[in-house]
Amino acid sequence: MQNVSKTICQAFKDARRALGLSQSVLADEIGCHQEAISMFERGNATKLSEEYVSRIAKRLGIDIKKLQDEEENSGKPAEVSVSVGYCPDCECPSNSPYTVGGRSFYRITLQKGIYCAHCGEVLEKRCPSCGAALNEGACCTMCGSRYIT
Ligand SMILES: [Zn+2]
Ligand SMILES: [Zn+2]
Repeated sequence: MQNVSKTICQAFKDARRALGLSQSVLADEIGCHQEAISMFERGNATKLSEEYVSRIAKRLGIDIKKLQDEEENSGKPAEVSVSVGYCPDCECPSNSPYTVGGRSFYRITLQKGIYCAHCGEVLEKRCPSCGAALNEGACCTMCGSRYIT
């Protein structure tokens, strides 16, 4: 892929590491060679086709277009933040159900990235009731409502 700066390539590496993925695991998931990812992360952006780069970006939760715009507008290297979220699908194995006093709860698992690693659902980044930051457990500590009902 053309027009990807070295900093953005580096951002891919940071995001991959933040998610605890090795180059070979990512390569297997995407269907490309580990060497190609290695070269790409070192700044040889042309080693991967646009198709593969966008698949990897999706997996890592990176918005390339946004990073490129940021770099262009600020003239500074792009920064990638990897925030956490939970899967809002009650059927998803990332959430563990339990019952207290006849009420059912789901203990959420906080995951990094944009999509759920288990089912591909878009992760919820905040409490759907009050918008507070997430905490481990089944309920928001700010408003007390269940994350998954
Ligand atoms: Zn899920
Ligand atoms: Zn809340």
